[in-house]
Amino acid sequence: MRRAGHRSGVERDARGEVDAGVGCNIAAGALGLAARRVVPRRRAFCDPVILPDGVYFRVNEFACHTGEPYPEAWADRWANLVTLCDRIRERWSRPLTVVSGYRTDAYNQGLVNGDAARGSHQVASASYHVQGMAADLRPETSEEVPQLLDIVLRMHAAGELPELGGCADYPVSSWVHADTGKTRDGHLRRWIGR
Ligand SMILES: [Zn+2]
Repeated sequence: MRRAGHRSGVERDARGEVDAGVGCNIAAGALGLAARRVVPRRRAFCDPVILPDGVYFRVNEFACHTGEPYPEAWADRWANLVTLCDRIRERWSRPLTVVSGYRTDAYNQGLVNGDAARGSHQVASASYHVQGMAADLRPETSEEVPQLLDIVLRMHAAGELPELGGCADYPVSSWVHADTGKTRDGHLRRWIGR
């Protein structure tokens, strides 16, 4: 276990340098965003690496609603996801709440079942949330959902969200879903929820 923890830490360090390079090409305010990720926090010498918080988001905010933490083994996925959320949050420049981040299989299946019982099909059984690759971000008011979506789509079109793979607005539920699940040809998966 300990060796695995070290290995994932090294990979994240390497990834952090790559992120820093990408960050240099975007808004000046994002420089600090990329630079901070290079240094992972550690509990103590030889202990597994704790997933680092983002600039605007703490890893705890992405825990499953059951209380299950975001899996530490997924350091690379976490780096991708929190970088994506940080970039969006930086441009948005207002608070965003993580309504849903990581979901365990069991928790997601519960959502799928509840959804089906209501005659709805809003929750995907193979959700990127289960893989730790998605976040539902809620602005302060539901009226701001179209504005947040617009910013995400504009940033994507400008090449400023290299991590983004899928994006959906949920105007009734009042959040914007963003995930890092890339399609083979690179097109953005886009849908509208409720
Ligand atoms: Zn979602």
